[in-house]
Parts: sequence; structure tokens; C-alpha cells
Amino acid sequence: MSDAPTVESYNVAVRNLCEFAAKLGDLDLRFTPSPSAQQGREGHQLVASRRGPSHEAEVRLSGSYVSGDQTLTVSGRADGFDAQRNVLEEVKTFRGAVEAIAPNHRDLHWAQLKVYGWLMCNTRSLEHITLQLVYFDVQQQTEHPLELVCSATELQAFFSALCQRYLGWAQMESTHRSQRDGVLQTMAFPQAPFRPGQHDLASGVYRACVQSRPLLVQAPTGIGKTIGTVFPALRAMPERGVDKIFFLTAKTPGRAVALEALQMVVAGQEQGSAALRVLELVARDKACEHPDKACHGQSCPLAQGFYDRLGAARLAAAQSGWMDQASLREVALAHGICPYYLGHEMARWADVVVGDYNYYFDRSAMLYALTAANNWRVSVLVDEAHNLYSRACSMYSAELAQVDALALQPGLPSLLRSRMNEWLNQWLLLVQSTQRKMPNATWCLLDEVPEAWLRALQRFNSAVSEYLNEHPTDAHGSLLPFYFKTLAFANLAEEFGDHSLCELELAGTVDGGADSEQVTLRLRNVVPAPFVKPRMEAADSMVLFSATLNPPDYYINLLGLADDTQLLDIPSSFTAEQLAVSIVRISTRRDDRRVSLDVLVQAMAEQFERQAGNYLAFFSSFEYLELALERLRHLHPSLPVWAQQRQMNEPSRHAFLRKFDAAGQGIGFAVLGGVFGEGVDLPGKRLVGAFIATLGLPQFDAVNQAICERMQERFGRGHDYTYVFPGIQKVVQAAGRVIRTPTDTGTVFLKEERDGELRQPRVCASV
Ligand code: SF4
Repeated sequence: MSDAPTVESYNVAVRNLCEFAAKLGDLDLRFTPSPSAQQGREGHQLVASRRGPSHEAEVRLSGSYVSGDQTLTVSGRADGFDAQRNVLEEVKTFRGAVEAIAPNHRDLHWAQLKVYGWLMCNTRSLEHITLQLVYFDVQQQTEHPLELVCSATELQAFFSALCQRYLGWAQMESTHRSQRDGVLQTMAFPQAPFRPGQHDLASGVYRACVQSRPLLVQAPTGIGKTIGTVFPALRAMPERGVDKIFFLTAKTPGRAVALEALQMVVAGQEQGSAALRVLELVARDKACEHPDKACHGQSCPLAQGFYDRLGAARLAAAQSGWMDQASLREVALAHGICPYYLGHEMARWADVVVGDYNYYFDRSAMLYALTAANNWRVSVLVDEAHNLYSRACSMYSAELAQVDALALQPGLPSLLRSRMNEWLNQWLLLVQSTQRKMPNATWCLLDEVPEAWLRALQRFNSAVSEYLNEHPTDAHGSLLPFYFKTLAFANLAEEFGDHSLCELELAGTVDGGADSEQVTLRLRNVVPAPFVKPRMEAADSMVLFSATLNPPDYYINLLGLADDTQLLDIPSSFTAEQLAVSIVRISTRRDDRRVSLDVLVQAMAEQFERQAGNYLAFFSSFEYLELALERLRHLHPSLPVWAQQRQMNEPSRHAFLRKFDAAGQGIGFAVLGGVFGEGVDLPGKRLVGAFIATLGLPQFDAVNQAICERMQERFGRGHDYTYVFPGIQKVVQAAGRVIRTPTDTGTVFLKEERDGELRQPRVCASV
């Protein structure tokens, strides 16, 4: 047996090393115009093309730092080296004034160059080297070089200091990873025994994670889907070498359930929360400690010196392991830094991240960007995945209203006003040409984003960008949020295709005409697959689960899932006897509602009389809900009722749900597809039945007819994709509120005579 000491080896990229060990100063998230990725690439190529024949571009460098029995290998690619002149270059592209580049950013750039400098000296046995930091202005195409001559000795000292700072962390990370994997390998299911169907669910998820294949799981309510997916994904981590799990939710309650499941997992471990680092990501407005301030050191005390104190906060958060909103806030405030941005930092070091869909699926999603940049192997679990289609559509949709532009125009600096006027002129021409073709139309579909209008918008955007470059420290008021909207719209417009609709909407006037100054141009994404697909593919495994994912093709096609996506349908373990379903054939169409209202409320009152208890009653809209509520109160004043309001904050939602007390009685009125239509858990006597006074079909209006036509063109099933599947999904979700446990029993009343519409496709007419 050899007595040679074990050498611990770690690897890090130059960029990550410097960001970890050399970034100091304030957090500063003020808007600074930055070059696009394309401009950045072109800038680097242009600078390289200006160099002489002895210039080597993109030089791969690597070197090691050894401390005791530990070795840290640092590698990266320097932008250029001229062996004849002994000059090593690092190019940074920028827009605006070179003086505006923050000192701590410059320090970071120098740190990278110095690390490359040492790697180059070491590789080519150089005693000294000239470091050239070239700031390249992508608009003016000018170079702003800064030079520093360094000896190999001083560069080595700099490199060693950074590596020494990083090495302790790398060792801690490596130890954590092997301990984590050891714990996960032997972890027992924390909620044993498995509920019926839960073991099949867990096995399917485990196989999908280990085999690295996408999986669509339909599993009934009450089976324990959260722990039934989290547990096998965790167990698969060591086997598949997964770096992180992202548990993505549509709504806040889903996040809480995921955290509860994870808490159960860590509670069963000897090391407690240190065994598994769990991070909860929340929205900025929920985590911000100074909502009246801006995110930079001159405004917010928690941004000032953020990076100076980040190291200690990062260590404390990592050591605690459990990083839900409250715990992370405590750590952040103890170190005097912003909890929201500490959360962003900890996404790099967490094992499981629980957050909203948008952290992975949105256009600028942080978790997706980090995954791509760091080549992470991630397992993504998508909770209540039937929501992903509509959420993804909204992530890739945008609209601009002419009135917002008109409101901004008078306060604009003169430089921008002329560009704005040009654009406003295009709005007018657009409205005029539409009204010539379709007099009095208040909505129409355009074949493409109007070209002249879009060019004028792009010119306005460029002018704003230049203006912001030149006035970086001014307060820009409402210009900045408006610019973000116009920029987002222009970006989406460039990718416009048959995945989206371009709509022009004019507000109606009292005389039935259209108001030419109340115009909105909208890009409505209806097939998010082209945008979502790369995000699906970046995950090592992607598991989408819900109680309603039928038919699978609908989700696979719309979300860009791979053709080889596995399907798993877990049958319900509840018996048919647990749920009585009654259909009351009345027309709930808008025109018939006043007539059918008495029959509807009578049926509700009779059921309540037969079996007193708590009921949920679902309606297709607030308008319908209010009509029925008023009628029920009038005809049966003693029957206790309460209703969902149009705007409900979290405390009032809780108050609504608290009325569903096991000893209580009454009917809670809610809107189908709304906040109480899914994700609400009212077991046992808390809910004994539901009335569903609608099929949940989206309205047969012009917008849905246009969507229907597009779905027909793309998938050959316009009516199903537009009306039937979304409608059924809402009804099944609402009905699923009634039976939550194997001992629950209940009744669902479906009140609708239009069930024929589910089978009779409407013609998707052109509009
Ligand atoms: S506390 Fe609020 S204002 Fe301050 S840096 Fe954090 S998010 Fe920005």
C-alpha cells in the first residue's frame, strides 16, 4: 500500500476565480447601456483583425496553484498575445463614455488580465510582460488601451493570493458535494409508507433523471406529488452527477409546499440542513428592504460595499444550508447586504433552488443563463405544469400603447422628441390605413409587425440608448421603464413568426366607432415552443408534473418538449364512490344567464339543504359570479355565502380560505381558473362539494378565433387546442379541490348544457 499523500485537485475558470476573489465595492444596478452579445463578438473580431501578423488571438491558457496537498487548476482564454512585442491583451467592449466604467469593474478586468499574465509568463517562461487592457467602443469603433508592465514575480504573487482565497472555498465545496452525495445515496423516503401511486411516480421520476430524459407526469391530486418528485430527483443526483435541482412553481403556495418537502428531507439527516443547501428565490419586491431606494451604493445602504461583505455572507449562508426567504434575510442583514442579491449569488452554490417559472423560462432567466455559462448539469422539476403554457406565452408577449408614448412625449429632451414624433406619426399612419381597410374596427390581426412603424420604434430606441450613454447620472423618470418596454417589444418583433399574433386594438367610442388615439399594438405569443425549447434542452432532465396534463401532445407541441418525452399517467387511487358527479342541464351562455339563474341557484340551495357543509361554486367570470351571488342572496338569504373579489391580496385570500372550516357551512363563490381554482387544499369536511357553472371554455371572441386558426394551421386541431383542452383543464382542476384524501367524499355539480361544444369543433374562421 502506498503512503503517498492524497492530492486534492480543483478546477476553476479565470473569470469565475476573479469574480469570486477579486470583486469588491458597491452593487450597482443602474442602467448602463451595454453592447449586445453580437456587438461584443464583432468588437473582439475587429480588434483582432487590426493586429499584426505576430498576434495570436484567443490563446488558451492554464496553470496550477499548489498549496500543501491541494492543487487548483485555473484555465481560460486570453483575447490576444503578441509574442514579438510581448504584449498580452484583454478586450472589453462598451458603449457610452469610457470614463463611466465603474472603478470596481475596471479592477475586475485588470484582475483577469493579471491572472492571464501569470499563466502566460509561466507557460512561456517570460520574466516580464506588458498587459494591455483595451476598452473598445462598439459605436465609435475606437480603442481605449491601458497598459501595465508587470514582472512574472509580481503576477505570480497576485495569482497566488487569489487562488489561496478561492482554494478554501473550493475545498469546502468539494467536501460538501461528496457529503451531500453520500447522504443522498442512502436517504430513505421521509414520508414512508408511500401513498398508493406515489411509488410509481417516484420510480418514474428517478428513471427519467438517471436516464436524462424529459418526462411528463400526470398524477392525481392527493398523491403527494411534491415529495414524490423531489425525493427521487435528489436520489438520482449522485448517480447522474447532477449539480443542481431547480424546483419551479407557478404560484407562491407551490413554493411553500416544495420547501416543506425539502425540510422533511433535511430533517431526517444527521447533518440537518447542512446536508443539502436549499435556496428559495423570491421576487425583488418581496425581498427588498428599501423599496424607496435604487439598487446602487449611493442610494441603498445594503448595496454600498456589497461585494466587500459578500464573502462573509456567502460563507454564512452556505454553512447554514437552509436558505429560505426568512433565513437568507437574517444572514444578509447580519452582514449588511441586500437579501435579494445575496439570493442571486447563492443560486451558484445551492443544491436545490425553489423559485418561480420565470427564473428558468423567461427571456432573461437567471437560472438558465447560469446553467449555460457554467455547464451545470441540472434536473428541472416543473410543478403544476399545466400552467407553464399560459405563463410562457406571457413571457414572450409584449404590447405598446400609443397613449403611453403621447404621455411621455412632452417631457422628453429635444434630442429624443423628434424621434418620438416620427414614431407617433407612424402610429397615426398605421391607424389611418387600418381604418381605411376596416372602418370602425376595434381589433384586427396584422400579418406582420408594421415595418415602417417598427423602424421608427428602433430609431427611437437607438436615440434613447445614445441619450442614456451620454447622460448616465441623470434621473430619467418614466423614460427608463418606457424604454425597457419599447426595447422588449422591438426584440420580440425581430423574432416575430407564426408562433405569435400581431394585433392592433383601438378603443371603442360611444358612437360605436374607434378612437384613433387609444391604440395598442400587441405581440401575443400563442406557441412558446421556439422560445422554451432551448431551455428544455439545457436541462439534463426535465420533469413536468400536474394533475391535468392531458392530452400530452398538447403540452409537448406547445412547450417544445422533445419527441422522445416519456409519459407517465398515474391512476387515481380514489374510488368512484368518493365523488358523486351530477350534471344539471341549464344554459350558462351569457344571453341565457338571467333566465337560467334561478334554476342554477335553486340547484345549489337544494344540494346545500340535502347535505350541509362547505362548497365552492365556480363561475366563468366575476360578472357571472356577482349575478349568481346576488340572486342566491335574494332567494335564500339565510344561506351563508362569501365571494372572491377582483383584487385580493394575500391576507384576504387567506381570510377567504379560513371560512372553509371543518365545522362550518356555506358556499364560497370563485372564478374558474382563478386563484381558488387550483392549488387549494381543503381536505375532509373543509370542502364537501363544488358547483361548476361553466365548461370553462374560453370566450368565442375574435382573439380566440385567431388563436384557433393559428393552432389549426400549426397542429391541425385548432378547436381542441384553443377551447376544449384549456376548458377541461380548468374544470378538472376545480373539481379536484373536492377529494383530497382517501377518506374524503364529496359532490360535484356541473351545470352546463353545452357539453356538445366539447365534441363539435367550431370552424376556425378568419378574422
Ligand atoms: S435592498 Fe432593495 S434597493 Fe437595496 S439593493 Fe436590495 S433590492 Fe435594491
